[in-house]
Amino acid sequence: MAFNPFNWLLGLFSLDIAIDLGTANTLVNVRGKGIVINEPSWVTIDKRLRQPIAIGLEAKEMVGRTPANVTVVRPLRDGVISDFAITQIMLEYFIGKVHEQSVVPLPRPRVIVGIPTGVTEVEKRAVYDAVMAAGARQAFLIEEPIAAALGAGLPIGDIHGSMVVDIGGGTTEVAVMSMSGVVASRSLRVAGDEMDQDVVQYLRNKYNLLIGESIAEQVKWKIGSAYPLPVEKTMDVRGRNLVTGLPETVQVSSVEIREALSGSVQVIVDTVRDALDEIPPEIVADLMDVGICLAGGGGLLQGLADRISDELKLRVWVAEDPLTCVARGAGMIFEDFDRLSRYLVGLERGSTRHSA
Ligand code: ADP
Ligand code: MG
Repeated sequence: MAFNPFNWLLGLFSLDIAIDLGTANTLVNVRGKGIVINEPSWVTIDKRLRQPIAIGLEAKEMVGRTPANVTVVRPLRDGVISDFAITQIMLEYFIGKVHEQSVVPLPRPRVIVGIPTGVTEVEKRAVYDAVMAAGARQAFLIEEPIAAALGAGLPIGDIHGSMVVDIGGGTTEVAVMSMSGVVASRSLRVAGDEMDQDVVQYLRNKYNLLIGESIAEQVKWKIGSAYPLPVEKTMDVRGRNLVTGLPETVQVSSVEIREALSGSVQVIVDTVRDALDEIPPEIVADLMDVGICLAGGGGLLQGLADRISDELKLRVWVAEDPLTCVARGAGMIFEDFDRLSRYLVGLERGSTRHSA
């Protein structure tokens, strides 16, 4: 491409932003600054005025506590945009917030955003359009497992294979990569949210105790596990007894929650096994050296690495700071755009680069 002094100047002053638009959390990584936003992907809406009232953490705290005319929604479900207008509002807010933090007025930013593997052309287009509509000058897409692998420091440009299992809120993404490309992948709609539902169901069936999703999530964080713990734990859980209708506190043990989560955990393990079945033996041999890397918040479930390792006879390790891998990995593209832009995904009827 010919040198364009205008673009060069624009590049000097504009922001480069990598966004991990997750079903559970949205992270914004600004080149030169690092992760400046890390908030739940929730939006509170006034139904009558059709206006957002709160976005991010503030919105998540309102879940289950809103009056009739107010609703708290997650605009992404199962990894893809389920509510375009609200996704756009959320992106505009986060991108706007980054812009506000700068002292001088800046040109509109270049944005890279992560998408799950195996999404349709229409779904890709929706993410792209939402980012552009939210005020980007240029938008690029990257497959989340590739970003996660870069963020986790895996040598995916190498001829040796690597494997990432990214367990988020809505989806689990399994990908085997080699020579900068995806060799095999699986996307599964069982991840953190499903585990929260498992906890809700379990306590309802066993104790007639009704609890909300966010309490279920806290139970999972504190005492959830996928493998026997060195010291099993207990926790008091508050809810409503469905028979008496009265508030009740029940003491729950980590053994029980492990049982509650076992179905979802097994599905994840089986999906990783399926992906392994599909790859050539050379890459299996590589994985015996380097192991499998867990990323995403679900990777923090206690004992999950041990459980997968035990069943699949491979070393399994959790990436450093697994919740930020995708945002950090996507951000790395801007550090060396000419070399790393090959990891970006194109949209049909166009190249990988899209300008407004
Ligand atoms: P997404 O990419 O879909 O936004 P994240 O990678 O941010 O998802 O992960 C969010 C999920 O990780 C949530 O379901 C959350 O409950 C789960 N999670 C976060 N921390 C832990 C933990 N310590 N133990 C188990 N699950 C966790
Ligand atoms: Mg994610």
